[in-house]
Amino acid sequence: MILAQAFSRFAFDLDGVVWKGDRPIAGAPDTIRTLRDAGKRVVFVTNNSSETAETYAKKLAEMGAGGSPDEVVSSADATARLLERAVPGLRGRLAYVVGGEGLLNAVASVGARIASGEESKDASLVVVGWDRGLTFDKLRLATLAVRAGAIFVASNTDATYPAQEGLWPGAGAIVAALRTSTGVEPLVAGKPDPGIFQVARDRLGGSPALVVGDRVETDIMAAHAAGWPAALVLSGATGVPELAAAPAWPDFVLGRLTDVLEDRPHPQVRSAAGPDLPHIATMLHHGGLTAGAARERVGRTMVAETDRKPIATASWERLDGIGLLRSVAVAPEFRRAGAGTIIVAATLKRMIEEGVGEVYLVTEHAEKFFAACGFKTIDREQLPDAIGKHPQVVRECPASAPAMYLRLPAR
Ligand SMILES: [Mg+2]
Repeated sequence: MILAQAFSRFAFDLDGVVWKGDRPIAGAPDTIRTLRDAGKRVVFVTNNSSETAETYAKKLAEMGAGGSPDEVVSSADATARLLERAVPGLRGRLAYVVGGEGLLNAVASVGARIASGEESKDASLVVVGWDRGLTFDKLRLATLAVRAGAIFVASNTDATYPAQEGLWPGAGAIVAALRTSTGVEPLVAGKPDPGIFQVARDRLGGSPALVVGDRVETDIMAAHAAGWPAALVLSGATGVPELAAAPAWPDFVLGRLTDVLEDRPHPQVRSAAGPDLPHIATMLHHGGLTAGAARERVGRTMVAETDRKPIATASWERLDGIGLLRSVAVAPEFRRAGAGTIIVAATLKRMIEEGVGEVYLVTEHAEKFFAACGFKTIDREQLPDAIGKHPQVVRECPASAPAMYLRLPAR
């Protein structure tokens, strides 16, 4: 299925989807341009309230994606909408903003008076977003105001920000500091609240769109709460372990944005059952793996299927509280199309549900694939005995096959 053909409207998250920091994610701007050229409607829906719509539109245009400010919906817009609905006497109310220009403009646009300097501690409204100029004084003033009774609003609570070098603290980390110092829970405007997609729906002339985001707990959950389909891209804040631990499952999983133009399987994942065994045996055989015990472990086997046919499989075992991931195979015609990543994520998810916190595997040919899934290579001697001396591992994995390890994130 080619998602670019299946949908006519798209709502793209920005950080981790279109760019990381100041650099575009490979192929993303061209993909957006291709969609525009095909007559698709595009909006950008970001939880990042630090910049203005004009700044984001300019950045999009400079990267070659095209873009006008009215296509950009940020959590600053959602914050303005929330303030108008939830805060009485907004006009003239003294507001202290910890955040960037986008958030300052949004708070000013609804008639609040922006506090500065020491008067900030007398504000009756504190609005917090991602602030790269955060200082102790800003936290001090916001804490004093909230403790004195100011209404506490957050543009979003993303824990991290996907930068080029890795994950930086996000708006959620700043909000957490204030939550700790005040004991007050903020009203939160951005994703996962679906309100931001109401703003996007207006920009799209009243129709929903395929949401493409890099974070399950915001992008995917907000899309689903709004009743919109959602694709997760693994190019930003979420990797395979985070997807496995996430509280929801996306409709589609993509490596990166360019995949919307590709003809790819978008399999459903489920537990295997008896009738799947011939398909599983064939996939294992093609992958050079033994299918001998497939029948006994069918209750601990997952399959990914498209058109009612399994195209990928994986099994797990739980030994002394630790997990062994085994028998991962993808049908030859679907290799390098994301099905392996999906079946591994879904199987790790099942292992987390079963209380597994650490996962080991031994692989002869797929070290690079599992490294991309988050596994680290370890010495064979570092395998716990329950795994290293497991009869199947001893029998089927040559001594030269690398061992790998992953600590699963807590749910
Ligand atoms: Mg993002």
